[in-house]
Amino acid sequence: MHLIVATRNRHKLEEIRSILNLPGIALIAADDIPDLPDVDEDGATLEENAVKKAATLARAAHAWTLADDSGLEVAALGGLPGVRSARYAGASADYAANNQKLLAALRHLENRRARFRTVIALASPSGRTRCVEGACEGVIVAAPRGAGGFGYDPLFQPDGYDQTFAEMDAAEKNRISHRARALDSAVRAWRDLLLTAPADWP
Ligand code: IMP
Repeated sequence: MHLIVATRNRHKLEEIRSILNLPGIALIAADDIPDLPDVDEDGATLEENAVKKAATLARAAHAWTLADDSGLEVAALGGLPGVRSARYAGASADYAANNQKLLAALRHLENRRARFRTVIALASPSGRTRCVEGACEGVIVAAPRGAGGFGYDPLFQPDGYDQTFAEMDAAEKNRISHRARALDSAVRAWRDLLLTAPADWP
């Protein structure tokens, strides 16, 4: 059976492939299927975006489809930047601008608790969708540290570590990350179902 993965990011596809390697299931990047629609990620929550992406592509391709959406949720900011993580400092903001805006927003605040969260949606060919999620809890540090990773990694120090995500070994980050945990949940929740290659959710 074919399982479409709604991502344009090859690294994500490989990460998903390494965790979700099930016999008889071929993962296909949405980009490799001609004429699939572009999906606007305009939802108010991570769940809405993941569901919209998965359901739209599943219906268009008539195939089971997996989609994810992630964000950084900062407690003192009521969960911001959250679903707006990629464009927190503006529509064409880069990672540095987003990080600067976050540090400025927290400058006078004591509570620096934050978590990365990933929602993964799985849609059947008819567009019926279910979600799982994974989170990684931590704090926002006072100034960027480290050169690895991407996005908010230089500002995020996961609980139980002295290093930020950007200072950590990539393999270690990928072991404890929100995405890895969401993918583990996805495998646990849907492995047996997918192995039977059903036409729709039971
Ligand atoms: P996406 O849904 O995976 O594309 O993530 C949306 C945005 O959340 C990214 O553009 C980053 O700003 C942020 N983000 C998601 N995951 C991570 C991560 O592992 N490290 C740092 N930033 C992340």
